[in-house]
Amino acid sequence: MAQEHPGGGMADRLAAYRRALESVPMVTIRAAWSWPVRAPRAAGGPLVRSALGRELRRLTHGDDAGPEPLPAGCSCPYCAMFERRSVPGGARRDSSGWVSGLDSAPATWRMRCSRRDWDRGSFAIDLYGPSAERWALVVAAIEGMARRGLGGDRVRPRSLKIACDAMNGVPASLGRRIEDCEERLAGADSVRLVCATPLRLLRKGDLVITPSPGLIATSAARRAAALAALAGARPVPGPPTDVLNDAREIPFGVAGGWRRVAVTRYSARQGRRHPLEGCVGQLAIECAPADVLALLAAGSVSGVGKGLTFGFGTYRLVADDEPCAGPGTDGNRRSSGGTGPPNATS
Ligand SMILES: [Zn+2]
Repeated sequence: MAQEHPGGGMADRLAAYRRALESVPMVTIRAAWSWPVRAPRAAGGPLVRSALGRELRRLTHGDDAGPEPLPAGCSCPYCAMFERRSVPGGARRDSSGWVSGLDSAPATWRMRCSRRDWDRGSFAIDLYGPSAERWALVVAAIEGMARRGLGGDRVRPRSLKIACDAMNGVPASLGRRIEDCEERLAGADSVRLVCATPLRLLRKGDLVITPSPGLIATSAARRAAALAALAGARPVPGPPTDVLNDAREIPFGVAGGWRRVAVTRYSARQGRRHPLEGCVGQLAIECAPADVLALLAAGSVSGVGKGLTFGFGTYRLVADDEPCAGPGTDGNRRSSGGTGPPNATS
């Protein structure tokens, strides 16, 4: 029962939520390169992020832009992507409560660079909303950073190939990408959520070691709604409360290899290195209703949790062929998201 929305049924509310996500433009840039020597360091995401930021800043604020602070409120692509301060026009609030209290804008891009991607010489960048419209400048910045080199030694790749879906004039949106993901999963009884990059969900400042599907779905829904708000959707409807309640009830377990990892990032502003922690591995999710899968799909397409621009928070959803009530379950068992499975932190 969703008493807070007497005017519209569940289906209406879900449809409105989907429409809002359709309005968020999304562009994906893929880069592949080969290195003359061993690629610098293993933590590819933070390294590419820092080189990309330097280059975008050069392109937007000029060669001379030193360490001095940039003009407050600048909305150039560099400042919008690397100097997130607040949502233009102040905190977005609406009656749904989904983005109320939001005083900093959602990240309008994410880096996808797993360890495997980095070893193979590739990474991808997804741009959402206002950043998607500036894809050409981001492509130029990737070319520039390859010319100038990465890392302390400024190692330059021998070759660079860039592909961008916007180059083909194919319009894409967050909503449509989510639908593509849902179509892939249609009919699946259970899915595996595969985190190739660390998932960093915090609760009261602490890393959540075993995030439940409910927590992931809620976080994904909140982020998608914030991106829709930034793209101008009004009002921004959250998904039906029932769907989130369903998500909280879904049985799940950690599959092999679930563990806590730390990636080192260098903060130029503070002049020192920080460990950034998250979890990688797989979660096995059973019997998820289609509406819940839609929220998990949203998280797969938009990224979930902290550190998205450092290459965190990207996961894939893979349909599992195994029957819903697999070995070791009685088919009726429900584990609540709060207690969940045993931790596998090794
Ligand atoms: Zn700027």
